[in-house]
Amino acid sequence: MLQQLTMRIGGKPVEALDGRRFNSIDPFTGLAWASIPRAGPADVDVAVNAAHNQFESGQWSQTNAAERGRLLNAIAALVAAEAMQLAEVEVRDNGKLLAEMLGQVQAMAGWFTYFGGLADKVEGVVTPTDQSGLFHYIRYEPLGVIAAIIPWNAPLLLTTFKLAPALAAGNTIVIKPSEHASASILALADLCERAGIPPGVINVITGYATEAGQPLVSHPLVSRVAFTGGQDGGRAVYQAAAHSLKAVSLELGGKTPCIVFEDADLEEAAAGVIRGIFAGGGQTCMATSRVLVHSSIHDAFVARLVVLAEAMNLGDPRLPDTHMGPIATRHQFDKVLAYIADAKAEGANCVTGGKRSSRPATAAGWYVEPTIFTHVSNSMKIAREEVFGPVLAVIKFESEEEAVDIANDSPFGLAAAIWTRDLRRAMKLPSRLRVGTVWVNTCRVTSHMAPFGGFKRSGIGREGGQEGIREYMAAKSVFVSS
Ligand code: NAD
Repeated sequence: MLQQLTMRIGGKPVEALDGRRFNSIDPFTGLAWASIPRAGPADVDVAVNAAHNQFESGQWSQTNAAERGRLLNAIAALVAAEAMQLAEVEVRDNGKLLAEMLGQVQAMAGWFTYFGGLADKVEGVVTPTDQSGLFHYIRYEPLGVIAAIIPWNAPLLLTTFKLAPALAAGNTIVIKPSEHASASILALADLCERAGIPPGVINVITGYATEAGQPLVSHPLVSRVAFTGGQDGGRAVYQAAAHSLKAVSLELGGKTPCIVFEDADLEEAAAGVIRGIFAGGGQTCMATSRVLVHSSIHDAFVARLVVLAEAMNLGDPRLPDTHMGPIATRHQFDKVLAYIADAKAEGANCVTGGKRSSRPATAAGWYVEPTIFTHVSNSMKIAREEVFGPVLAVIKFESEEEAVDIANDSPFGLAAAIWTRDLRRAMKLPSRLRVGTVWVNTCRVTSHMAPFGGFKRSGIGREGGQEGIREYMAAKSVFVSS
């Protein structure tokens, strides 16, 4: 029996105006589990108008910032109290491990608490002017209606990256989750309203990129677009936003290099690389999908990686002893297998995995074995394009200079990791890597207190940290004649 979900618009459960629906598939079973409204442009218009009317009413946008902060803290408390329910919905939708999801829900509570705390600390400034008799001050104001467009790989956390600062700043929002994973965002909107967020502040429309996403980005009453997703979607959203002259942030993909020097703690580095690439089945923007290894330790390091990869348990994402779940969609599963075939055809050497899993526990789902390729050159497709699956490309280097060149020779620039015991290297290399985040002797670390975002084709803008709230505000100059 399919669960019948509804959109949230103006604080109410809402069907698509034409009554259309589509199914969400559980990637572990390959079966439909929920039915979701399929919004079109007319539904988008209703949702944006609900958000716009709420913004204009001032009930939220002009409320005391301390009160907004209090409500964000109330959301954090409910998220923590209902962590298991939220996590289970998302596991059903995208196959993420339940254990990993519980960690992400914990992180969400941290985002709401942090931006709840920041809400009443955005201070204006009084400045001198070049004209006598004028008093000038700058105040920071919310922008209006925010459009948040979300991918399927981590809907709750990636929505929170946008929702927490946008709400703290006093905006209203229309969220368009991925057509492959909408259910957890509908649950989150309901939770926020139960925490006391007024109707119309948070609206969720569900549906496809062209039918619901595009009209949302182009809608004249939307002030800013916050997009996380792939390059093609990002480019289309940027173009549409440019056409209607809207501010945009784009959080796109990555091809994160992990540089392992000969002086690294190889046990720690191998464990870090494995965690970095295979967490979420490799379906994370920051997946450490390229590992650059010094030639003197290459063979020993690869041997260690293979042992760790082959020890991974694939199966039911809800069970605590499962290390890797399925690929979230059939389309992505086919894409990952096609990348593996291309890598083999280009001459890369598959040292483990390289195929669909045949383990009994994975029979019904879309599982790819943890895969490692050696003999990879940085010009191969497997090194240049984002696979978004459990596939690691190992590249050999001879010198520090060469490692930095290979790391930077990528269209992407989201993150990089360095493994070394050399303090000079650890301090010097972060400034030479053209990426938004550098990890030294660790990987996959993010924080609501630190900005996150990409260089080059990994995106535009930053999420998180104290500056994060300003992304959702505009400075206004006020001149007063005395
Ligand atoms: P996608 O670009 O296909 O879709 C993302 C969202 O955008 C979906 O809701 C989709 O419906 C919508 N969309 C797509 N085209 C659109 C258009 N033209 N107009 C309006 N909306 C549109 O991405 P995906 O396959 O869902 O997610 C995987 C991608 O997300 C990967 O490339 C991954 O690297 C990236 N990602 C980036 C980050 C980051 O923070 N940098 C985090 C997670 C995922």
